[in-house]
Amino acid sequence: MAPAPNVVVGSPYGDVFADSAPIADDVAVDLARLVPEIRALLPGTRDSAPDVWIQRELLLFVGWPVHESVGGFAVTRGTWLHWWTGDRIHVQETSPQRRRLFLAHELVHCVIDDTWHALPPAVEEGLCDEVAMRVEPEHGPHHRGVLMLAAGLATGHLPIAVEYRRSGHVTRRLALDPTPGVIDPAEALSAGYEAVKGTSGLDGMKRRGVGFVVVGRIVEAGGFAALRRLAEDSRARGERRIAASGLLDSARLFTENDWREAIDARVGPGELEAMAAEIGEEVGRRTAPMAAYDHRGWSAERFLAESDVMLVYGFGADAIEVPLGDVDEYRRGILEAWPGAENDI
Ligand SMILES: [Zn+2]
Repeated sequence: MAPAPNVVVGSPYGDVFADSAPIADDVAVDLARLVPEIRALLPGTRDSAPDVWIQRELLLFVGWPVHESVGGFAVTRGTWLHWWTGDRIHVQETSPQRRRLFLAHELVHCVIDDTWHALPPAVEEGLCDEVAMRVEPEHGPHHRGVLMLAAGLATGHLPIAVEYRRSGHVTRRLALDPTPGVIDPAEALSAGYEAVKGTSGLDGMKRRGVGFVVVGRIVEAGGFAALRRLAEDSRARGERRIAASGLLDSARLFTENDWREAIDARVGPGELEAMAAEIGEEVGRRTAPMAAYDHRGWSAERFLAESDVMLVYGFGADAIEVPLGDVDEYRRGILEAWPGAENDI
């Protein structure tokens, strides 16, 4: 097992371990606030006093680092390690906003009772995300943006385009085509834990995006109690998990248009900024040759300083946009892939 970080601070719930006293103190304060807030939001919780490990590199076993895209994980009752560790949460040492959101997400896994595990894994993840964003709204738009990008790729509804403009006119418009990555929502809602956890890559994220939209739709219509009722009814029928069809019915997600509405309603400027950061480098790399052709004789730096390139979501008066020239990841992609860039001195 990985050794615990060396500073430990107690809290009314569990002990916090970190590499520095100020971080351990901050997290102990967060923990004392978040546990009661989360339990007040949700029906069907259990007592949990998890230890929290804040790690620079997320690690459960020495020499076996957790995938870099994962911000945290929880060892809870019902998982194989629990019998010798008790409840424990690992969270990556990152900005305080992200750290608190990850902590809140993992705490939801710890405090929900067994009935909640009738939610299929993609939906349990959606529940954790939905609750985490309510108690930690600061980093919410970013996290929601990442999930909606995934949901858009899953359902084929991602009305994103890169627009090149000159004097207010669009000179080129490149629309993103998400259709090759489409998955069946019912499959996403039936997938096991291995298929949605952070290490299962883009397909795992797509399933989580679907689960997040389903949770959002059910909760906006009937609160967390409505989701809880589905879990209780399912258990009363002797099922291990709620069927995908029941979840889609409750979420009123029947047609492609329902998905479109559900996704668009959850994408605002903050979410689009997160999407721009997620896909910016790829967009920069792929579009650099074309941009260089349109601006013959320009350096990549001049292109980034003088051109007007927007990432646009949606159409017409409802469209929202982010200037790609302000997005670090896009700049990096352009600088890397600009033809002849490696010859510049
Ligand atoms: Zn989770």
